[in-house]
Amino acid sequence: MTATRPQPTTAPGARRGEQFLARLRESPPNLWYRGEQVKDVTTHPALRGGVGTLARLYDLQWERADETLYTSPTSGRKVAKSFMMPRTQAELRGVSAAMKVWHDYTRGLMGRVPDYINRAITGYAAGAAFLGDGDPRFGENAKRYYEYMRENDLCLTHTLVPPQANRAVNSARQADPYLSARIKEETDAGIVIRGCRMLATLPMSDELMVFPSTVLKSPEEDAPYAFGFCIANNTPGLRFICRESVDYGRTHFDHPLGSRFEEMDAVVVFDDVFVPWESVFLYRDVIKCNQAYARTGALAHMTHQVVVKNIAKSEFILGLASLLVNSIGAEVFQHIHEKLAELWVNLETMKAFLRAAEADAALDEWGVMRPAWNPLDAARNLFPRLYPRMVEIIQQIGASGLVAMPTQQDVTGPLVEDIKKYYQAARADAFDRIPLFRLAWDTAMSAFGSRQVLYERFFFGDPVRMAGALVSGHNDQIKEYAARVMDLVKEGRDEAFADAAKSS
Ligand SMILES: Cc1cc2nc3c(=O)[nH]c(=O)nc-3n(C[C@H](O)[C@H](O)[C@H](O)COP(=O)(O)OP(=O)(O)OC[C@H]3O[C@@H](n4cnc5c(N)ncnc54)[C@H](O)[C@@H]3O)c2cc1C
Repeated sequence: MTATRPQPTTAPGARRGEQFLARLRESPPNLWYRGEQVKDVTTHPALRGGVGTLARLYDLQWERADETLYTSPTSGRKVAKSFMMPRTQAELRGVSAAMKVWHDYTRGLMGRVPDYINRAITGYAAGAAFLGDGDPRFGENAKRYYEYMRENDLCLTHTLVPPQANRAVNSARQADPYLSARIKEETDAGIVIRGCRMLATLPMSDELMVFPSTVLKSPEEDAPYAFGFCIANNTPGLRFICRESVDYGRTHFDHPLGSRFEEMDAVVVFDDVFVPWESVFLYRDVIKCNQAYARTGALAHMTHQVVVKNIAKSEFILGLASLLVNSIGAEVFQHIHEKLAELWVNLETMKAFLRAAEADAALDEWGVMRPAWNPLDAARNLFPRLYPRMVEIIQQIGASGLVAMPTQQDVTGPLVEDIKKYYQAARADAFDRIPLFRLAWDTAMSAFGSRQVLYERFFFGDPVRMAGALVSGHNDQIKEYAARVMDLVKEGRDEAFADAAKSS
Protein backbone atom coordinates (compact mmCIF):
# COMPACT_ATOMS: atom_id res chain seq x y z
CA MET A 1 0.00 0.00 0.00
CA THR A 2 1.18 3.53 -0.69
CA ALA A 3 1.78 6.10 2.05
CA THR A 4 -1.38 8.02 1.12
CA ARG A 5 -3.62 5.14 2.19
CA PRO A 6 -4.95 5.15 5.76
CA GLN A 7 -4.28 2.04 7.80
CA PRO A 8 -7.17 -0.46 8.07
CA THR A 9 -7.50 0.22 11.82
CA THR A 10 -8.91 3.66 10.98
CA ALA A 11 -11.39 2.19 8.52
CA PRO A 12 -14.89 3.58 9.00
CA GLY A 13 -16.90 0.77 7.40
CA ALA A 14 -19.78 2.09 5.30
CA ARG A 15 -19.21 5.80 4.73
CA ARG A 16 -21.47 8.79 4.86
CA GLY A 17 -21.38 11.59 2.31
CA GLU A 18 -19.22 13.92 4.39
CA GLN A 19 -16.56 11.22 4.87
CA PHE A 20 -16.49 10.63 1.11
CA LEU A 21 -16.05 14.36 0.44
CA ALA A 22 -13.42 14.77 3.16
CA ARG A 23 -11.24 12.04 1.70
CA LEU A 24 -11.46 13.57 -1.80
CA ARG A 25 -10.34 16.89 -0.30
CA GLU A 26 -7.50 15.33 1.70
CA SER A 27 -6.25 13.05 -1.10
CA PRO A 28 -7.37 14.75 -4.31
CA PRO A 29 -7.22 12.62 -7.48
CA ASN A 30 -4.85 14.06 -10.06
CA LEU A 31 -7.44 15.36 -12.53
CA TRP A 32 -6.82 17.78 -15.38
CA TYR A 33 -9.66 19.81 -16.84
CA ARG A 34 -9.31 22.15 -19.83
CA GLY A 35 -5.57 22.48 -19.34
CA GLU A 36 -5.59 23.00 -15.59
CA GLN A 37 -5.08 20.73 -12.63
CA VAL A 38 -8.26 20.41 -10.57
CA LYS A 39 -7.50 21.42 -7.00
CA ASP A 40 -10.73 20.32 -5.37
CA VAL A 41 -13.18 18.04 -7.21
CA THR A 42 -15.84 18.72 -4.58
CA THR A 43 -16.12 22.38 -5.60
CA HIS A 44 -14.97 22.41 -9.24
CA PRO A 45 -17.88 23.56 -11.47
CA ALA A 46 -17.36 20.72 -13.97
CA LEU A 47 -17.50 18.00 -11.34
CA ARG A 48 -19.22 19.15 -8.17
CA GLY A 49 -22.74 18.14 -9.33
CA GLY A 50 -21.75 14.50 -9.82
CA VAL A 51 -19.57 14.48 -6.70
CA GLY A 52 -22.50 15.86 -4.68
CA THR A 53 -24.70 13.05 -5.97
CA LEU A 54 -22.10 10.45 -4.96
CA ALA A 55 -22.02 11.99 -1.46
CA ARG A 56 -25.80 11.79 -1.37
CA LEU A 57 -25.62 8.07 -2.26
CA TYR A 58 -23.27 7.42 0.67
CA ASP A 59 -25.80 9.13 2.99
CA LEU A 60 -28.61 7.17 1.38
CA GLN A 61 -26.97 3.85 2.21
CA TRP A 62 -27.24 4.77 5.91
CA GLU A 63 -30.82 6.03 5.56
CA ARG A 64 -31.72 2.66 3.98
CA ALA A 65 -29.24 0.64 6.04
CA ASP A 66 -31.50 -2.40 6.45
CA GLU A 67 -31.49 -2.90 2.69
CA THR A 68 -28.03 -1.66 1.73
CA LEU A 69 -25.58 -2.67 4.52
CA TYR A 70 -24.46 -5.90 6.15
CA THR A 71 -22.12 -6.81 8.99
CA SER A 72 -18.48 -7.19 7.99
CA PRO A 73 -17.29 -10.75 8.63
CA THR A 74 -13.91 -9.43 9.85
CA SER A 75 -14.48 -6.11 11.67
CA GLY A 76 -18.13 -6.44 12.72
CA ARG A 77 -18.78 -2.96 11.29
CA LYS A 78 -21.61 -2.21 8.89
CA VAL A 79 -20.31 -2.30 5.31
CA ALA A 80 -21.93 -1.93 1.88
CA LYS A 81 -23.81 -4.98 0.64
CA SER A 82 -22.28 -4.54 -2.82
CA PHE A 83 -19.15 -6.08 -1.22
CA MET A 84 -21.00 -9.19 -0.11
CA MET A 85 -19.88 -12.62 -1.30
CA PRO A 86 -23.35 -14.20 -1.39
CA ARG A 87 -23.62 -17.86 -0.38
CA THR A 88 -27.35 -18.25 -1.05
CA GLN A 89 -29.81 -17.05 -3.65
CA ALA A 90 -31.53 -14.96 -0.97
CA GLU A 91 -28.23 -13.16 -0.26
CA LEU A 92 -27.70 -12.64 -3.99
CA ARG A 93 -31.15 -11.07 -4.29
CA GLY A 94 -30.26 -8.93 -1.27
CA VAL A 95 -27.22 -7.61 -3.15
CA SER A 96 -29.29 -6.58 -6.17
CA ALA A 97 -31.99 -5.03 -3.96
CA ALA A 98 -29.27 -2.97 -2.23
CA MET A 99 -27.84 -1.84 -5.57
CA LYS A 100 -31.33 -0.89 -6.78
CA VAL A 101 -31.59 1.70 -3.97
CA TRP A 102 -28.74 3.69 -5.54
CA HIS A 103 -29.85 3.17 -9.14
CA ASP A 104 -33.36 4.29 -8.32
CA TYR A 105 -31.87 7.52 -6.96
CA THR A 106 -29.80 8.16 -10.12
CA ARG A 107 -32.54 6.74 -12.40
CA GLY A 108 -29.83 4.45 -13.76
CA LEU A 109 -28.03 7.46 -15.23
CA MET A 110 -24.76 6.98 -13.35
CA GLY A 111 -23.65 3.52 -14.41
CA ARG A 112 -20.42 3.83 -12.47
CA VAL A 113 -21.62 4.51 -8.95
CA PRO A 114 -19.21 2.61 -6.67
CA ASP A 115 -21.18 -0.66 -6.60
CA TYR A 116 -19.86 -1.46 -10.11
CA ILE A 117 -16.24 -1.87 -9.05
CA ASN A 118 -17.31 -3.17 -5.63
CA ARG A 119 -18.78 -6.15 -7.47
CA ALA A 120 -15.62 -6.51 -9.58
CA ILE A 121 -13.22 -6.59 -6.63
CA THR A 122 -15.55 -8.94 -4.77
CA GLY A 123 -15.38 -11.32 -7.73
CA TYR A 124 -11.59 -11.07 -7.93
CA ALA A 125 -11.22 -11.73 -4.21
CA ALA A 126 -13.63 -14.67 -4.38
CA GLY A 127 -11.52 -16.16 -7.19
CA ALA A 128 -8.22 -15.31 -5.45
CA ALA A 129 -7.10 -18.94 -5.80
CA PHE A 130 -7.17 -18.51 -9.58
CA LEU A 131 -5.09 -15.32 -9.38
CA GLY A 132 -2.68 -16.95 -6.92
CA ASP A 133 -2.21 -20.12 -8.95
CA GLY A 134 1.42 -19.72 -10.00
CA ASP A 135 2.32 -16.95 -7.55
CA PRO A 136 0.34 -17.03 -4.26
CA ARG A 137 1.18 -13.35 -3.58
CA PHE A 138 -1.28 -12.23 -6.24
CA GLY A 139 -4.22 -14.10 -4.73
CA GLU A 140 -3.35 -12.76 -1.26
CA ASN A 141 -3.09 -9.22 -2.67
CA ALA A 142 -6.57 -9.42 -4.19
CA LYS A 143 -8.07 -10.66 -0.92
CA ARG A 144 -6.26 -8.05 1.17
CA TYR A 145 -7.23 -5.22 -1.20
CA TYR A 146 -10.86 -6.36 -1.24
CA GLU A 147 -10.96 -6.20 2.54
CA TYR A 148 -9.24 -2.81 2.59
CA MET A 149 -11.71 -1.46 0.03
CA ARG A 150 -14.74 -2.91 1.82
CA GLU A 151 -13.70 -1.67 5.28
CA ASN A 152 -12.89 1.83 3.94
CA ASP A 153 -15.87 1.87 1.56
CA LEU A 154 -13.65 3.26 -1.18
CA CYS A 155 -14.94 4.66 -4.44
CA LEU A 156 -13.06 3.29 -7.45
CA THR A 157 -12.75 4.05 -11.12
CA HIS A 158 -11.28 1.50 -13.52
CA THR A 159 -9.52 1.37 -16.84
CA LEU A 160 -9.29 -1.35 -19.43
CA VAL A 161 -8.90 -0.47 -23.11
CA PRO A 162 -5.69 0.73 -24.79
CA PRO A 163 -5.71 4.11 -26.59
CA GLN A 164 -7.49 4.26 -29.94
CA ALA A 165 -4.49 4.89 -32.19
CA ASN A 166 -4.33 1.93 -34.55
CA ARG A 167 -6.93 -0.76 -33.95
CA ALA A 168 -5.57 -2.94 -36.78
CA VAL A 169 -2.59 -4.02 -34.66
CA ASN A 170 -2.00 -4.94 -31.02
CA SER A 171 -0.42 -2.72 -28.35
CA ALA A 172 3.09 -4.04 -29.03
CA ARG A 173 2.88 -3.00 -32.71
CA GLN A 174 1.67 0.57 -32.25
CA ALA A 175 3.92 3.39 -33.52
CA ASP A 176 5.28 3.74 -29.97
CA PRO A 177 5.50 0.66 -27.71
CA TYR A 178 4.68 2.92 -24.73
CA LEU A 179 1.45 4.29 -26.22
CA SER A 180 -0.53 1.62 -24.37
CA ALA A 181 0.28 1.35 -20.68
CA ARG A 182 3.20 -1.07 -20.43
CA ILE A 183 5.55 -2.47 -17.83
CA LYS A 184 8.66 -0.34 -18.06
CA GLU A 185 10.67 -2.02 -15.34
CA GLU A 186 10.44 -4.40 -12.45
CA THR A 187 12.24 -3.97 -9.13
CA ASP A 188 12.29 -5.86 -5.82
CA ALA A 189 9.69 -3.40 -4.54
CA GLY A 190 7.28 -3.35 -7.46
CA ILE A 191 6.73 -2.42 -11.10
CA VAL A 192 6.87 0.82 -13.08
CA ILE A 193 4.14 1.51 -15.66
CA ARG A 194 4.49 3.93 -18.58
CA GLY A 195 1.88 4.76 -21.24
CA CYS A 196 -1.85 5.28 -21.34
CA ARG A 197 -5.25 3.63 -21.06
CA MET A 198 -8.14 5.00 -23.07
CA LEU A 199 -10.79 5.65 -20.53
CA ALA A 200 -11.86 5.74 -16.92
CA THR A 201 -15.37 6.84 -15.98
CA LEU A 202 -15.76 8.39 -12.51
CA PRO A 203 -12.18 9.69 -12.13
CA MET A 204 -13.32 11.85 -9.18
CA SER A 205 -12.83 8.87 -6.94
CA ASP A 206 -10.35 7.46 -4.41
CA GLU A 207 -8.52 4.78 -6.33
CA LEU A 208 -8.05 3.22 -9.76
CA MET A 209 -8.43 -0.42 -10.62
CA VAL A 210 -6.35 -1.22 -13.67
CA PHE A 211 -8.14 -4.16 -15.24
CA PRO A 212 -6.22 -6.68 -17.27
CA SER A 213 -6.80 -5.89 -20.94
CA THR A 214 -8.96 -8.60 -22.48
CA VAL A 215 -7.75 -8.12 -26.03
CA LEU A 216 -4.26 -9.54 -25.51
CA LYS A 217 -3.29 -12.16 -28.05
CA SER A 218 0.35 -13.17 -28.09
CA PRO A 219 1.64 -14.65 -24.80
CA GLU A 220 5.16 -13.33 -25.53
CA GLU A 221 4.60 -10.07 -27.42
CA ASP A 222 1.73 -8.88 -25.21
CA ALA A 223 3.25 -9.90 -21.86
CA PRO A 224 4.46 -6.33 -21.01
CA TYR A 225 0.84 -5.18 -21.38
CA ALA A 226 -0.59 -7.93 -19.17
CA PHE A 227 -1.25 -6.79 -15.60
CA GLY A 228 -3.90 -5.93 -13.06
CA PHE A 229 -3.49 -3.75 -9.98
CA CYS A 230 -5.08 -1.03 -7.81
CA ILE A 231 -3.49 2.30 -6.90
CA ALA A 232 -4.58 5.55 -5.25
CA ASN A 233 -5.68 8.28 -7.66
CA ASN A 234 -3.03 10.64 -6.28
CA THR A 235 -0.15 8.21 -6.92
CA PRO A 236 2.81 10.19 -8.32
CA GLY A 237 2.90 10.12 -12.14
CA LEU A 238 -0.78 9.14 -12.51
CA ARG A 239 -2.88 11.70 -14.42
CA PHE A 240 -6.49 11.79 -15.60
CA ILE A 241 -7.26 14.03 -18.59
CA CYS A 242 -11.00 14.77 -18.39
CA ARG A 243 -13.33 15.33 -21.31
CA GLU A 244 -15.39 18.52 -21.38
CA SER A 245 -18.09 18.37 -18.75
CA VAL A 246 -21.70 17.72 -19.71
CA ASP A 247 -22.72 19.68 -16.60
CA TYR A 248 -23.19 23.21 -17.96
CA GLY A 249 -23.14 24.68 -14.47
CA ARG A 250 -26.81 25.54 -14.68
CA THR A 251 -29.69 24.99 -12.28
CA HIS A 252 -31.65 21.77 -11.77
CA PHE A 253 -34.53 23.51 -13.57
CA ASP A 254 -32.48 24.20 -16.71
CA HIS A 255 -30.34 21.10 -16.75
CA PRO A 256 -32.03 18.52 -14.56
CA LEU A 257 -29.79 15.55 -15.36
CA GLY A 258 -26.43 17.07 -16.30
CA SER A 259 -26.41 19.18 -13.15
CA ARG A 260 -26.88 16.08 -10.98
CA PHE A 261 -25.48 13.00 -12.70
CA GLU A 262 -22.26 13.97 -14.54
CA GLU A 263 -19.93 11.02 -13.87
CA MET A 264 -17.11 12.27 -16.14
CA ASP A 265 -14.78 10.20 -18.36
CA ALA A 266 -11.02 10.64 -18.54
CA VAL A 267 -7.97 9.32 -20.35
CA VAL A 268 -5.48 7.80 -17.90
CA VAL A 269 -1.77 8.60 -18.24
CA PHE A 270 0.87 6.57 -16.41
CA ASP A 271 4.01 8.67 -16.32
CA ASP A 272 6.37 6.07 -14.83
CA VAL A 273 3.94 5.16 -12.09
CA PHE A 274 5.40 2.96 -9.39
CA VAL A 275 3.10 0.14 -8.26
CA PRO A 276 4.24 -1.81 -5.18
CA TRP A 277 4.04 -5.60 -5.46
CA GLU A 278 1.39 -5.77 -2.74
CA SER A 279 -1.04 -3.91 -5.06
CA VAL A 280 -0.56 -6.27 -8.02
CA PHE A 281 -2.85 -9.23 -8.69
CA LEU A 282 -2.05 -10.15 -12.29
CA TYR A 283 1.36 -9.92 -13.91
CA ARG A 284 2.75 -10.75 -17.36
CA ASP A 285 0.45 -13.73 -17.82
CA VAL A 286 -1.55 -13.08 -20.99
CA ILE A 287 -3.68 -16.21 -20.75
CA LYS A 288 -4.55 -15.57 -17.11
CA CYS A 289 -5.40 -11.92 -17.89
CA ASN A 290 -7.77 -12.97 -20.67
CA GLN A 291 -9.47 -15.54 -18.42
CA ALA A 292 -9.56 -13.59 -15.15
CA TYR A 293 -12.97 -11.91 -15.44
CA ALA A 294 -14.84 -15.04 -16.28
CA ARG A 295 -12.97 -17.50 -14.07
CA THR A 296 -13.03 -15.42 -10.88
CA GLY A 297 -16.71 -14.52 -11.32
CA ALA A 298 -15.99 -10.76 -11.56
CA LEU A 299 -17.69 -10.59 -14.98
CA ALA A 300 -20.95 -12.17 -13.75
CA HIS A 301 -21.06 -10.03 -10.59
CA MET A 302 -20.44 -6.83 -12.56
CA THR A 303 -23.04 -7.74 -15.18
CA HIS A 304 -25.51 -8.37 -12.35
CA GLN A 305 -24.97 -4.72 -11.33
CA VAL A 306 -25.40 -3.62 -14.97
CA VAL A 307 -28.80 -5.32 -15.27
CA VAL A 308 -30.00 -3.65 -12.05
CA LYS A 309 -28.94 -0.31 -13.57
CA ASN A 310 -30.72 -1.19 -16.85
CA ILE A 311 -33.96 -1.81 -14.96
CA ALA A 312 -33.80 1.54 -13.15
CA LYS A 313 -33.02 3.28 -16.45
CA SER A 314 -35.86 1.54 -18.31
CA GLU A 315 -38.29 2.48 -15.51
CA PHE A 316 -37.17 6.09 -15.82
CA ILE A 317 -37.63 6.22 -19.61
CA LEU A 318 -41.06 4.57 -19.43
CA GLY A 319 -42.21 6.98 -16.71
CA LEU A 320 -40.87 9.96 -18.65
CA ALA A 321 -42.52 8.88 -21.91
CA SER A 322 -45.85 8.38 -20.20
CA LEU A 323 -45.74 11.86 -18.64
CA LEU A 324 -44.91 13.44 -22.01
CA VAL A 325 -47.81 11.61 -23.67
CA ASN A 326 -50.23 12.52 -20.93
CA SER A 327 -49.23 16.19 -20.80
CA ILE A 328 -49.95 16.86 -24.48
CA GLY A 329 -52.91 14.51 -24.83
CA ALA A 330 -51.08 12.23 -27.27
CA GLU A 331 -52.61 9.08 -25.76
CA VAL A 332 -55.37 9.25 -28.40
CA PHE A 333 -52.94 8.06 -31.09
CA GLN A 334 -52.44 4.36 -31.66
CA HIS A 335 -48.75 4.52 -32.56
CA ILE A 336 -48.11 6.18 -29.21
CA HIS A 337 -49.50 3.09 -27.48
CA GLU A 338 -47.18 0.96 -29.59
CA LYS A 339 -44.22 3.04 -28.42
CA LEU A 340 -45.21 2.91 -24.75
CA ALA A 341 -45.73 -0.84 -25.13
CA GLU A 342 -42.23 -1.18 -26.59
CA LEU A 343 -40.75 0.61 -23.58
CA TRP A 344 -42.75 -1.56 -21.19
CA VAL A 345 -41.61 -4.75 -22.94
CA ASN A 346 -37.97 -3.58 -22.70
CA LEU A 347 -38.37 -3.03 -18.96
CA GLU A 348 -40.03 -6.38 -18.36
CA THR A 349 -37.35 -8.09 -20.46
CA MET A 350 -34.61 -6.67 -18.23
CA LYS A 351 -36.53 -7.64 -15.10
CA ALA A 352 -36.99 -11.18 -16.43
CA PHE A 353 -33.24 -11.46 -17.16
CA LEU A 354 -32.43 -10.39 -13.60
CA ARG A 355 -34.93 -12.78 -12.12
CA ALA A 356 -33.67 -15.67 -14.25
CA ALA A 357 -30.04 -14.88 -13.39
CA GLU A 358 -30.90 -15.00 -9.68
CA ALA A 359 -33.27 -17.98 -9.85
CA ASP A 360 -30.70 -20.05 -11.78
CA ALA A 361 -27.74 -18.84 -9.72
CA ALA A 362 -25.49 -21.58 -8.38
CA LEU A 363 -22.47 -21.88 -6.12
CA ASP A 364 -19.34 -21.49 -8.24
CA GLU A 365 -15.99 -23.22 -7.79
CA TRP A 366 -15.10 -20.66 -5.09
CA GLY A 367 -18.25 -21.35 -3.07
CA VAL A 368 -19.88 -18.03 -4.03
CA MET A 369 -23.46 -17.78 -5.31
CA ARG A 370 -22.87 -16.64 -8.89
CA PRO A 371 -25.77 -15.29 -10.97
CA ALA A 372 -26.48 -17.47 -14.03
CA TRP A 373 -24.49 -16.27 -17.00
CA ASN A 374 -26.84 -16.86 -19.95
CA PRO A 375 -29.54 -14.34 -18.98
CA LEU A 376 -26.85 -11.80 -18.02
CA ASP A 377 -25.05 -12.29 -21.33
CA ALA A 378 -28.33 -11.88 -23.21
CA ALA A 379 -29.07 -8.68 -21.25
CA ARG A 380 -25.66 -7.12 -21.84
CA ASN A 381 -25.85 -7.83 -25.57
CA LEU A 382 -29.43 -6.58 -25.90
CA PHE A 383 -29.46 -3.34 -23.91
CA PRO A 384 -26.92 -1.51 -26.15
CA ARG A 385 -29.52 -1.88 -28.92
CA LEU A 386 -32.56 -1.10 -26.76
CA TYR A 387 -31.33 2.10 -25.16
CA PRO A 388 -30.69 4.17 -28.34
CA ARG A 389 -34.19 3.13 -29.49
CA MET A 390 -35.67 4.18 -26.13
CA VAL A 391 -34.12 7.61 -26.56
CA GLU A 392 -35.43 7.74 -30.13
CA ILE A 393 -38.94 7.11 -28.77
CA ILE A 394 -38.56 10.09 -26.41
CA GLN A 395 -37.62 12.20 -29.45
CA GLN A 396 -40.56 10.87 -31.47
CA ILE A 397 -43.03 11.63 -28.69
CA GLY A 398 -41.54 14.97 -27.63
CA ALA A 399 -41.04 16.31 -31.17
CA SER A 400 -40.73 20.12 -31.26
CA GLY A 401 -41.57 20.24 -27.56
CA LEU A 402 -37.94 19.26 -27.04
CA VAL A 403 -36.75 22.56 -28.52
CA ALA A 404 -39.62 24.90 -27.66
CA MET A 405 -38.25 25.09 -24.18
CA PRO A 406 -37.51 28.29 -22.29
CA THR A 407 -34.98 28.56 -19.48
CA GLN A 408 -35.36 29.43 -15.82
CA GLN A 409 -34.52 33.05 -16.68
CA ASP A 410 -37.35 33.18 -19.22
CA VAL A 411 -39.81 31.64 -16.81
CA THR A 412 -38.99 34.19 -14.12
CA GLY A 413 -38.41 37.12 -16.53
CA PRO A 414 -40.54 39.81 -18.13
CA LEU A 415 -42.15 37.44 -20.66
CA VAL A 416 -43.79 35.35 -17.98
CA GLU A 417 -47.31 36.07 -19.28
CA ASP A 418 -46.39 34.84 -22.77
CA ILE A 419 -44.85 31.78 -21.22
CA LYS A 420 -47.90 30.99 -19.10
CA LYS A 421 -50.13 31.16 -22.14
CA TYR A 422 -48.09 29.61 -24.93
CA TYR A 423 -46.31 26.84 -23.07
CA GLN A 424 -49.35 25.34 -21.44
CA ALA A 425 -50.23 21.74 -22.27
CA ALA A 426 -53.51 19.82 -22.23
CA ARG A 427 -52.86 18.46 -18.76
CA ALA A 428 -50.10 20.67 -17.39
CA ASP A 429 -49.66 24.38 -16.90
CA ALA A 430 -46.54 25.97 -18.33
CA PHE A 431 -44.65 25.71 -15.05
CA ASP A 432 -45.10 21.93 -14.96
CA ARG A 433 -44.74 21.35 -18.66
CA ILE A 434 -41.45 23.22 -19.10
CA PRO A 435 -39.40 21.30 -16.47
CA LEU A 436 -40.86 18.03 -17.77
CA PHE A 437 -39.81 18.78 -21.34
CA ARG A 438 -36.41 20.01 -20.15
CA LEU A 439 -35.99 16.61 -18.51
CA ALA A 440 -36.86 14.93 -21.81
CA TRP A 441 -34.40 17.20 -23.64
CA ASP A 442 -31.65 16.30 -21.18
CA THR A 443 -32.43 12.62 -21.73
CA ALA A 444 -32.62 12.68 -25.50
CA MET A 445 -30.83 15.71 -26.90
CA SER A 446 -28.31 17.43 -24.64
CA ALA A 447 -24.62 16.52 -24.42
CA PHE A 448 -25.55 14.61 -21.25
CA GLY A 449 -28.21 12.64 -23.13
CA SER A 450 -26.06 11.76 -26.14
CA ARG A 451 -23.16 10.71 -23.89
CA GLN A 452 -25.61 8.31 -22.20
CA VAL A 453 -26.39 6.74 -25.58
CA LEU A 454 -22.69 6.33 -26.38
CA TYR A 455 -22.14 4.91 -22.91
CA GLU A 456 -24.81 2.26 -23.38
CA ARG A 457 -23.51 1.35 -26.82
CA PHE A 458 -19.94 0.79 -25.69
CA PHE A 459 -19.19 0.86 -21.97
CA PHE A 460 -19.15 -2.91 -21.58
CA GLY A 461 -17.17 -3.44 -24.79
CA ASP A 462 -17.55 -3.16 -28.53
CA PRO A 463 -20.95 -4.76 -29.38
CA VAL A 464 -19.47 -6.36 -32.50
CA ARG A 465 -16.77 -8.18 -30.55
CA MET A 466 -19.19 -8.95 -27.70
CA ALA A 467 -21.45 -10.69 -30.23
CA GLY A 468 -18.46 -12.68 -31.44
CA ALA A 469 -17.68 -13.72 -27.87
CA LEU A 470 -21.34 -14.65 -27.36
CA VAL A 471 -21.41 -16.92 -30.40
CA SER A 472 -18.20 -18.73 -29.44
CA GLY A 473 -19.16 -18.87 -25.75
CA HIS A 474 -22.56 -20.42 -26.42
CA ASN A 475 -21.49 -22.51 -29.40
CA ASP A 476 -22.40 -25.86 -27.83
CA GLN A 477 -25.94 -24.67 -27.14
CA ILE A 478 -26.29 -23.29 -30.67
CA LYS A 479 -24.95 -26.56 -32.13
CA GLU A 480 -27.54 -28.54 -30.20
CA TYR A 481 -30.37 -26.63 -31.89
CA ALA A 482 -28.63 -26.88 -35.25
CA ALA A 483 -28.52 -30.68 -34.80
CA ARG A 484 -32.27 -30.76 -34.13
CA VAL A 485 -32.98 -28.79 -37.31
CA MET A 486 -30.60 -31.08 -39.19
CA ASP A 487 -32.72 -34.03 -38.10
CA LEU A 488 -35.63 -32.52 -40.02
CA VAL A 489 -33.44 -31.82 -43.05
CA LYS A 490 -32.16 -35.40 -43.04
CA GLU A 491 -35.65 -36.82 -42.61
CA GLY A 492 -36.90 -35.02 -45.73
CA ARG A 493 -33.78 -35.96 -47.68
CA ASP A 494 -33.97 -39.63 -46.65
CA GLU A 495 -37.68 -39.81 -47.49
CA ALA A 496 -37.04 -38.32 -50.92
CA PHE A 497 -34.34 -40.87 -51.73
CA ALA A 498 -36.46 -43.71 -50.35
CA ASP A 499 -39.39 -42.64 -52.58
CA ALA A 500 -37.09 -42.43 -55.56
CA ALA A 501 -35.68 -45.89 -54.86
CA LYS A 502 -39.18 -47.36 -54.58
CA SER A 503 -40.36 -45.93 -57.88
CA SER A 504 -37.25 -46.90 -59.85
C1 LIG B 1 -19.05 6.81 -22.24
C2 LIG B 1 -18.06 5.69 -22.15
C3 LIG B 1 -17.55 5.33 -20.90
C4 LIG B 1 -16.59 4.33 -20.80
N1 LIG B 1 -16.05 4.04 -19.58
C5 LIG B 1 -15.00 3.19 -19.51
C6 LIG B 1 -14.34 2.94 -18.27
O1 LIG B 1 -14.71 3.47 -17.23
N2 LIG B 1 -13.27 2.13 -18.26
C7 LIG B 1 -12.84 1.51 -19.40
O2 LIG B 1 -11.87 0.78 -19.32
N3 LIG B 1 -13.45 1.70 -20.57
C8 LIG B 1 -14.51 2.52 -20.66
N4 LIG B 1 -15.12 2.74 -21.86
C9 LIG B 1 -14.51 2.15 -23.05
C10 LIG B 1 -15.20 0.94 -23.59
O3 LIG B 1 -14.74 -0.21 -22.93
C11 LIG B 1 -14.88 0.91 -25.09
O4 LIG B 1 -15.60 1.96 -25.70
C12 LIG B 1 -15.19 -0.39 -25.78
O5 LIG B 1 -14.43 -1.45 -25.27
C13 LIG B 1 -14.90 -0.29 -27.29
O6 LIG B 1 -13.58 0.09 -27.48
P1 LIG B 1 -13.22 1.45 -28.21
O7 LIG B 1 -14.10 2.53 -27.75
O8 LIG B 1 -11.77 1.65 -28.06
O9 LIG B 1 -13.61 1.20 -29.71
P2 LIG B 1 -12.65 0.66 -30.83
O10 LIG B 1 -12.13 -0.67 -30.43
O11 LIG B 1 -11.63 1.66 -31.17
O12 LIG B 1 -13.66 0.48 -32.03
C14 LIG B 1 -13.93 1.51 -33.01
C15 LIG B 1 -14.69 0.88 -34.17
O13 LIG B 1 -13.86 -0.11 -34.80
C16 LIG B 1 -14.47 -1.41 -34.75
N5 LIG B 1 -13.44 -2.39 -34.40
C17 LIG B 1 -12.29 -2.17 -33.71
N6 LIG B 1 -11.60 -3.31 -33.56
C18 LIG B 1 -12.34 -4.28 -34.13
C19 LIG B 1 -12.18 -5.68 -34.29
N7 LIG B 1 -11.11 -6.32 -33.83
N8 LIG B 1 -13.15 -6.36 -34.94
C20 LIG B 1 -14.24 -5.74 -35.42
N9 LIG B 1 -14.45 -4.41 -35.30
C21 LIG B 1 -13.52 -3.70 -34.67
C22 LIG B 1 -15.52 -1.32 -33.65
O14 LIG B 1 -16.61 -2.21 -33.89
C23 LIG B 1 -15.95 0.15 -33.73
O15 LIG B 1 -16.94 0.29 -34.70
C24 LIG B 1 -16.14 3.67 -21.98
C25 LIG B 1 -16.69 4.01 -23.22
C26 LIG B 1 -17.63 5.00 -23.32
C27 LIG B 1 -18.16 5.37 -24.69
